[in-house]
Amino acid sequence: MGKAVIEQCVLCGTSFKYGVKQYDGQYLPHYEMFLCEGCYRSNQGGIAFFFEKKFVLHLESKGISKPERNSNGIYPR
Ligand SMILES: [Zn+2]
Repeated sequence: MGKAVIEQCVLCGTSFKYGVKQYDGQYLPHYEMFLCEGCYRSNQGGIAFFFEKKFVLHLESKGISKPERNSNGIYPR
């Protein structure tokens, strides 16, 4: 019982199931951010430049300070 919880990927905007029995994405507690499975995987080495503006807007909306850039010059996932 219980209906599926739908969350939205902060980066690409895709909606996906996150509960009760099906989890098609990931939650990153340090950023208070949901990512679809595709974005989670493709940004493994850090948040791609392509998505950086959205990522920073998300952090600002949550009042989370920006992390240090990693050795690739992007924000770590
Ligand atoms: Zn996504």
